Amino acid sequence: MTMITNHMPTAELQALDAAHHMHPFTHGNQLSAKGARIITRAKGVTLTDSEGHEILDGMGGLWCVNIGYGRKELADVAARQMMELPFYNTFFQTSHVPAIALSAKLAELAPEGFNHVFYAGSGSEANDTNLRMVRTYWAQLGEPERNVVISRKNAYHGSSVGSGSLGGMSGIHAQGGLPIPNIYHIDQPHWYAEGGDSDPEAFGLERARQLEAKIEELGAHRVAAFIAEPVQGAGGVIIPPDSYWPEIQRICDKYGILLIADEVICGFGRTGNWFGSQTYDIRPDIMTIAKGLSSGYAPIGGSLVSDRVAKVINACEFNHGYTYSGHPVSCAVALENLRILEEEKIIERVAHDTGPYLQEKWNSLAEHPMVGETRIIGMMGSLALTPHKASRAKFASEPGTAGYICRERCFANNLVMRHVGDRMIISPPLVISKSEIDTLIERAWISLDQAEKQIRDEGLMKAAA
Ligand SMILES: *Cc1c(COP(=O)(O)O)cnc(C)c1O
Repeated sequence: MTMITNHMPTAELQALDAAHHMHPFTHGNQLSAKGARIITRAKGVTLTDSEGHEILDGMGGLWCVNIGYGRKELADVAARQMMELPFYNTFFQTSHVPAIALSAKLAELAPEGFNHVFYAGSGSEANDTNLRMVRTYWAQLGEPERNVVISRKNAYHGSSVGSGSLGGMSGIHAQGGLPIPNIYHIDQPHWYAEGGDSDPEAFGLERARQLEAKIEELGAHRVAAFIAEPVQGAGGVIIPPDSYWPEIQRICDKYGILLIADEVICGFGRTGNWFGSQTYDIRPDIMTIAKGLSSGYAPIGGSLVSDRVAKVINACEFNHGYTYSGHPVSCAVALENLRILEEEKIIERVAHDTGPYLQEKWNSLAEHPMVGETRIIGMMGSLALTPHKASRAKFASEPGTAGYICRERCFANNLVMRHVGDRMIISPPLVISKSEIDTLIERAWISLDQAEKQIRDEGLMKAAA
């Protein structure tokens, strides 16, 4: 048996990694100079690295390990499925039990009117599917000129050509000729950073109404769909004002355009409901799913498709699909993950027990002198670092300088907390216990203190003009 052992010294692993492994969203040479942190094991909410450090994973991997690490049930299901049927495709009029069972289960869990699933291997692939599906929908209805999708700046929908274009990340658009044509981006509902002196609810309405203005500008007959995350994740856990989503829904309804809710992070319990759309009372036509669908134990994504859309798409041959659409091992693992989420009442705990506890503790970090605001819903939270609380000032240094210092302090204190610019974000496994939440908050506070000192010492505690 080929074994990947953990017995090689860290420095040797780092050298091999640097020599041969190109990392996503990473400056290769900078990482090579420093050496990657190598994670060797994980259990519950705790990672172990190759030096034996035990690290609290405040990010649930990449927003995905909802049920926590080390659940043997998922490994057993995967092993059994690999022996029974490791692969078969779902093209050409064939199917298999794991894809059938998962589809039926998802239809049961999803809001009313969602009875169909199109599978992909990831969230990016699923959003590529969505782009083609909404355009095909309108073409089938005799309106092929309706091919524009409206999205938002600083949205994250993946990094493939289609999904990276749907997203609104300037760093992604700067490389490889994105966005592709007929995708437009309106401003995000990010009151703290962009709301100035306005009232947050008025600001939420104003940002939502940009959708209407854009539809009018382009011509309603050209607009196929609007896509958005219920809560922006990778953009910095940006929780919109309460006024935002009802107004977006009103506008989508008024013009009859399709609404795609990208639930890749919000789905499967993150906001305290099965879907973020339920938390915000959104009535989407398509929901993108991935990440928490399998808790990251196996790669799988997909589109939950409403009856409205499925009826039209099913009336033609949709020339689209991936070799691993409905991969049997991934489907079996996802199904077992959903069983655990449901039977162990993990989402109920996020809504009524550990979630509110985390929210209270997280919001206590707002008392820290360098924290301008805290925001949290369910188990996704963020805080803004600032050199001057009262004015919500940004740092004069390059955006992300303070955030990076804080993140490095967190790592040194055995806490994974990510930074997006100068915002710190968390998205822990949904099974995190109250005592683990206490540890998370203690480590976050210590890290903020140390980061504040370092930022002062380096002369960076200066507000941007
Ligand atoms: C992560 C993410 C994606 C992309 O999913 P991948 O599996 O990384 O391709 C899409 N949308 C959102 C909201 C995400 O957070």
